[in-house]
Amino acid sequence: MKDKLVFAMPEWPVVPVLGGDQAYPVRRIFCVGRNYADHAREMGMQLNRDAPFYFTKSPTTLISSGSRIKYPLGTENYHYEIELVVALGSSIVQATPAQAEAAIYGFAVGLDMTRRDLQMTARDRGLPWDLGKDFEQSAVIAPITRRQEIEGYDRRIWLTANGDTRQESNLTQLVWPVPDVLSHLSRFYHLGAGDVIFTGTPAGVGAVGTGTLIRGGIDGLADIELTIA
Ligand code: MN
Repeated sequence: MKDKLVFAMPEWPVVPVLGGDQAYPVRRIFCVGRNYADHAREMGMQLNRDAPFYFTKSPTTLISSGSRIKYPLGTENYHYEIELVVALGSSIVQATPAQAEAAIYGFAVGLDMTRRDLQMTARDRGLPWDLGKDFEQSAVIAPITRRQEIEGYDRRIWLTANGDTRQESNLTQLVWPVPDVLSHLSRFYHLGAGDVIFTGTPAGVGAVGTGTLIRGGIDGLADIELTIA
């Protein structure tokens, strides 16, 4: 049937891998909500200590670091969120944290761009967050560093907007550490290569407008950059 498609089949989005010419194809994008206590507080919400929670973005929302994009449709409160992104390299289901950690292909810096006004309206009405979170060009991922080239989570995470520091924390502040998130998520999905997980943002989220240059990073990983042109 592949020769009878109504329109050309789109290619999977990919993220470059550092230290070679390889690229990582993205199949699904999961995101953890409220995974830093100070961010949960700034959003006026309680931490969910019993289990992490998630939302998803379509892989078609993915764009590369260094992109110049237009201010998105339908919002007057467009926010950045700097996050550690985990890219899986092998299959896990109902995995222990140790098994889950062994399935990681690599790590990258990500931006979970958010239409905050739409997200808040949905949240306060008990509705899904899709309009606020899953929209075009809302998932930015910098080049991936392979797991064997980096060790440990004691790493500074930061973001600047036009040079002003807006977010600054450390990955050790994650409420649900990476292996625990992956283990928990693998109780609900057959996870595998191509699945990436945005692990949540620290405090300091805020609005950006046209003309803003967003820069961010995590110690040991490639920096990320996004321009609202
Ligand atoms: Mn987020």
